[in-house]
Amino acid sequence: MADVVIVGGGVVGMGLGMILARDGHTVSMLERDAEPAPGDPDAAWGRWDRKGVTQFRLAHFFLARYRQILEEELPETAAAIEADGGLRLNPLRGIPDAVSGGFREGDERYELLSGRRAVVERSVASMVERSPGLSLRRGVAVEGLLRGPDVMAGIPHVTGVRTSDGEEVRADLVVDCSGRRSALPTWLEALGTRGPDEQADDSGFIYLGRHFHSRDGQMPFALGPLLQNYGSISVLTLPADNETWSVTLVARSGDRAMLGLKDVERWEGVVRSLPTVAHWIDGDPIEDRIMTITKIEDRHRDLRPGGVPVATGIAAVADAWACTNPSVGRGASIGMLHAQTLRNTLRDVGPDRPVELSEAFAVATAATVEPWYRATLAFDRHRLAEMAAIAEGVVYDPGDPLYEMTNALAVASGRDPDVLRGFLDIVGVLDLPNNVMARPGMFEKVIEYGADWRAQEPIGPTRDELVAMANA
Ligand SMILES: Cc1cc2nc3c(=O)[nH]c(=O)nc-3n(C[C@H](O)[C@H](O)[C@H](O)COP(=O)(O)OP(=O)(O)OC[C@H]3O[C@@H](n4cnc5c(N)ncnc54)[C@H](O)[C@@H]3O)c2cc1C
Repeated sequence: MADVVIVGGGVVGMGLGMILARDGHTVSMLERDAEPAPGDPDAAWGRWDRKGVTQFRLAHFFLARYRQILEEELPETAAAIEADGGLRLNPLRGIPDAVSGGFREGDERYELLSGRRAVVERSVASMVERSPGLSLRRGVAVEGLLRGPDVMAGIPHVTGVRTSDGEEVRADLVVDCSGRRSALPTWLEALGTRGPDEQADDSGFIYLGRHFHSRDGQMPFALGPLLQNYGSISVLTLPADNETWSVTLVARSGDRAMLGLKDVERWEGVVRSLPTVAHWIDGDPIEDRIMTITKIEDRHRDLRPGGVPVATGIAAVADAWACTNPSVGRGASIGMLHAQTLRNTLRDVGPDRPVELSEAFAVATAATVEPWYRATLAFDRHRLAEMAAIAEGVVYDPGDPLYEMTNALAVASGRDPDVLRGFLDIVGVLDLPNNVMARPGMFEKVIEYGADWRAQEPIGPTRDELVAMANA
């Protein structure tokens, strides 16, 4: 068993820490933000100081895969989220039988457990405190890596981390879980190695959202999926914990006509004009303004460019490895899948074989989480270009079968119960689009029921009406 240091105690970092500690590893987590998790969900939402996570109070939704992994690996944590007011929901139950074909055996897999990010993270933190073999020290910032004797000629071997206080914490394996803004390339360069192969780009979206609290204990009725497209904008309606939910408008950050949506009245005017979601703002707003975030990077790191590790004794998990625009809400699910992948790799190849471990983790990452990253990126790139085309009044037709099939599948999901389940498997990070399309008869059904997707009558305001409302 290994001594593992995890850099960062965010929502996935803590999950990884608990999973590894359960397997018998000794885990030290170092988290830069000093404030401990508050004692209750209200305080977590209201005052927990988490500067290290920019998106801490922005709309989040935890998908079925996140719930599934928690129940497999950390059932007490799933129970803690629920006990703290987390929302257990099966989207299939809200769909009329005429569309879903009725509840079937196996449909339990779509169940999810969600809540506001701060609230879920507090519940996770409350279980970390009770995990044997795991320590989480808050207020400790990592500033660099320690180098020991090479185990592979000319390639630095990481043997621990150095904190901002100059403390040296030794480990058999260092795992970077420090999120989107991870400084790993800089730390590696300071060891005298080349950095990872990194691809990064502004995802090009802007998010404008607000949370609400129910006035009567009822949650808004879902008249469509969580993410709905309305021409040149999209809207996310995300039910959360303790009778709360969020509504977020997603626009292209380059679409200057939409920047007026930072204003509460204009934002409300636009949401009110979207027929399937207008009623989602019939609650008490929790924030007195529209919460906005932009310049969200799509970023991917390859720690073995050309098949050669940049260093041994180091791994990057979750957002520190790769992150995308979050409109499909996959970050925590992909992150926990990655955490499971690291645990499984450590079972197969112990930390006493760092060269083999580096290779095996890269291979496993490519097989488990990389396809999700690629699929999300492709989806986002098309949606961004589609939004731009709609704003310009032209038809977006990239001639890409993936784009055609994605749209056809979405439309067919409302017309056939098997396609609906395939759609929910993709949405819930339960099965990859390619696997879903390869199911017997799926391709034929998607064509039969969805090929006319371009003929769907658009609902909601026209582009001109949107622009007028966003600038009224
Ligand atoms: C606007 C937005 C909305 C999102 N919505 C969703 C959603 O709906 N569903 C979903 O699943 N995902 C969503 N995500 C993604 C999700 O937030 C991330 O995937 C998730 O936070 C990753 O967890 P993590 O533990 O890897 O990193 P983080 O949660 O980012 O945690 C990193 C931690 O590392 C600490 N740290 C950083 N540097 C250091 C250092 N040098 N030393 C010590 N500690 C350090 C930070 O303080 C922080 O606590 C969203 C992201 C954004 C930007």
